[in-house]
Amino acid sequence: MTRAVLVLNAGSSSIKFALYGAEHLDVLCRGQIDGIGGTPRFVAKGARAARLTETLALPETATHETLTAWLLETLRARLDDVTISAAGHRVVHGGARFVAPVCIDDAVMGELDSLVSLAPLHEPHNLATIRAVAKAWSQLPQVACFDTQFHRTQPRLAQLFALPQELTDDGVLRYGFHGLSYEYIAGVLPQHVGPRADGRVIVAHLGNGASMCALKERRSVASTMGFTALDGLMMGTRSGALDPGVVLHLLQHKRMSPDEVSSLLYNKSGLLGVSGISADVRKLEASDDPRAAEALDLFAYRAARELGSLVAVLGGLDVLVFTAGIGEHSAGVRRRICEPSAWAGVVLDLVANERGGPRISSPRSQVDVLVIPTDEEVVIARATRQQV
Ligand code: ADP
Repeated sequence: MTRAVLVLNAGSSSIKFALYGAEHLDVLCRGQIDGIGGTPRFVAKGARAARLTETLALPETATHETLTAWLLETLRARLDDVTISAAGHRVVHGGARFVAPVCIDDAVMGELDSLVSLAPLHEPHNLATIRAVAKAWSQLPQVACFDTQFHRTQPRLAQLFALPQELTDDGVLRYGFHGLSYEYIAGVLPQHVGPRADGRVIVAHLGNGASMCALKERRSVASTMGFTALDGLMMGTRSGALDPGVVLHLLQHKRMSPDEVSSLLYNKSGLLGVSGISADVRKLEASDDPRAAEALDLFAYRAARELGSLVAVLGGLDVLVFTAGIGEHSAGVRRRICEPSAWAGVVLDLVANERGGPRISSPRSQVDVLVIPTDEEVVIARATRQQV
């Protein structure tokens, strides 16, 4: 029997999973169920994936909860030489309370429930998945790993809003997200740039959700995301940073309800809203519609501006890393962000950029620019193995 750690990462319409051998954290298989809410699809890859996908039918009307139960049953039935000894979860918001991975019990679940309103797009699905595992395998140790935990090293000023003290005391702070991804990049960075990894580093995590993190000594010192995952960069369907007066205008003068504003800012803005075409960079890059070009231009403009603000925090820049779906795959977006960042010492090697790196900076560049694929799941697997 192979002992394994199961990692679950539930998003708004998908559940990603990965199964690691508990001893060496080798990947046994990984995959995802996507299209939740519409027609769910299951894909798996890795050494044991064939046994999972052969003649497999997904439940038709399915929620995160029922699909998690289905996934567990499928893993149990089809991988009969594997014993799952623990499950680790990505939980988007840990609030002020959770600064490190934690073993989940009823008390922890109660505290996590109170954080749902801070990440309405993600947290309910994270918790539904944890509950489904507890229901199916009540004895299985479960560990929550937080996207916010990596940022708890930030200095107080980086976490404060200019709001009255009572709100700060009540936890209205800049938390930052994508921390599991940043933790992974911080871990592998010395392999790419040696001791410069401990210098002034910016990591651009550009996926459907997008943020940037400034690191010194491989710890977070500032990030573009704030109280919720809505702040900072323009994203696939999220607006990113917005004059708060716009929200007041929508509520007071456009008579939109809070739910309508929430849906607008989380689901209908960003690349999708500006282009009116798609949230997917691949589709926008393939389009000759000027609105697609404008959406991509705005995405890069906002990113280059935010990059500038993080360079100011760091007092200069030694290393710039691109990661996640867009960061790893779109040479065009990387170029559009790097070209206006020449003032900070960024010079791209255009051929290496088209090839996708890992090193995409020119030898004349003062800044090492890299493309590094992220791996949030392995960070969760390590933490889970350590906790149980
Ligand atoms: P998530 O935040 O859901 O984990 P990902 O990091 O997987 O998202 O990023 C998904 C996005 O990456 C897609 O919506 C698309 O915009 C972009 N993307 C993926 N592959 C490519 C590609 N080959 N070229 C350009 N963009 C890509």
